[in-house]
Amino acid sequence: MTIERLIDQAKTYLPDKDLKLIERAFHYANDAHKDQLRKSGEPYIQHPLHAAMTLAKMQIDAATISAALLHDVIEDTPITEAELKKEFGPDIAFLVDGVSKLGKVRVRKDIIDTNLKEQEPDSFHSFSRQFETLQKMFVAMAKDIRVIIIKLADRLHNMETLKFIPSDKQLRIAQETLEIYAPMADRLGIGELKGQLEDLAFPYVYPKEYIELKKIVELNYPRRLKYIKRVKKTLESESKKHHIEAEINGRAKHLYSLYNKMKRYSNIDQIYDLVALRVIVDDVTDCYAALGMIHKLWKPLNGRIKDYIAMPKPNGYQSLHTTVFCLDGQPTEIQIRTKDMHAQAEYGIAAHWHYKSEQTKPALLRRSSNHDIAWVKQLAQWQEKLTNPAELAESLKLDFFQNRIFVFTPRGDVHDLPSGATPVDFAFAIHSDVGYHCAGAKVNGKMVTLNHILQNGDIVEILQNKKSSPKPDWLNFIKTSEARSNIKQAVKGEDKKTFNIFNKNKSTPN
Ligand code: MN
Repeated sequence: MTIERLIDQAKTYLPDKDLKLIERAFHYANDAHKDQLRKSGEPYIQHPLHAAMTLAKMQIDAATISAALLHDVIEDTPITEAELKKEFGPDIAFLVDGVSKLGKVRVRKDIIDTNLKEQEPDSFHSFSRQFETLQKMFVAMAKDIRVIIIKLADRLHNMETLKFIPSDKQLRIAQETLEIYAPMADRLGIGELKGQLEDLAFPYVYPKEYIELKKIVELNYPRRLKYIKRVKKTLESESKKHHIEAEINGRAKHLYSLYNKMKRYSNIDQIYDLVALRVIVDDVTDCYAALGMIHKLWKPLNGRIKDYIAMPKPNGYQSLHTTVFCLDGQPTEIQIRTKDMHAQAEYGIAAHWHYKSEQTKPALLRRSSNHDIAWVKQLAQWQEKLTNPAELAESLKLDFFQNRIFVFTPRGDVHDLPSGATPVDFAFAIHSDVGYHCAGAKVNGKMVTLNHILQNGDIVEILQNKKSSPKPDWLNFIKTSEARSNIKQAVKGEDKKTFNIFNKNKSTPN
């Protein structure tokens, strides 16, 4: 990768003054990393250049691309955030600092080990909840959507060069990619990035399954590709007949998403989409017209028609999906969407940097079937603001987890608590019994008082004593209502006990 190639890409959508900024960021980063090498032996600057290129392909703004070029400068060179601020202004410095801080979020090794080992549905459920909390933590620490997008591009290149990393670290990084980064890309609706991240992690996390599936796909792929070409021809001439302007393309499906489907259907013959067939048209009316045309041509399979236009996925994805008995009676999946929906599906949130007109308003704003999820609401809110460029910078701030902290048990279980929470809140969050007998606490291995204020990422160990019970003064510092109601009840119970004993003593004659 070279700076010239990056500029060529950026030129396609950015004005000259933006290109100057990107070049300046490149030279600054190149200088800062000049004596450093990647594990692959390449000059270090290759890494930020690749990350920046990924973003330029998504047509992201110049500040974000510049921050991508500078993203490892604070972490890996003597340069400070203050210096970056002086050189590039507060916005870029803030983004680079955010990426550096986010780099410290790690999935703990014991979570990964247990997750890979235990396959019972119950434990799986609890681990996906763990990962969900970790995802929240990730978002909370990012504070700005652009920080996450840079981090995703950073991770993509790290995954592309994972083979150069010591093997004991590979699994952790790949698992993290699968459980945190790919879902994050998915939630932001950046489907292409999600697919790439998953496919890069797949062979490290599930090596046996990967080799098996790859064999099957390679065996079937050429035949399937030839077949898709024939279908494509038929579709092209039919659309012409019906005066539907359509672009039809076929592309190999991502392996990891195939693997997930296979787990569901357990039979490769039921996977009809080794090659995804897409019909891209001008507007929504044409989407339905194309669907009608296809169903007249070939009979649809029962239960395989999905209308994500009327009912978009929570991340804003829109398309029509159908599976039909196609040429030679072969079941074939076809997706139909407009150009705007296509951009939305590939670039998600990032699409808004270059699609600003009213009719391409984010799908979430027009309609969402899943408005009760806080995350979706938040996305919808700031997507709304995105249509007003003046509010752009402000709206990119992610403050919906701002008031939460994420704290680990020594085993690596993560709990989210309100900021200002104490070990007592944490104890009650684990279990009311743990709270009840809480007698002391260690934070990151050191003894602390029970009113100690916990910080994001702390590892907290609760020391229990069967004889101890909640103290009334805990009510002065606890933050959660769960702890409050439990303590109040316990304290009341204590009072009653004392009172009863007192009464009993009084009423007994002797
Ligand atoms: Mn990096």
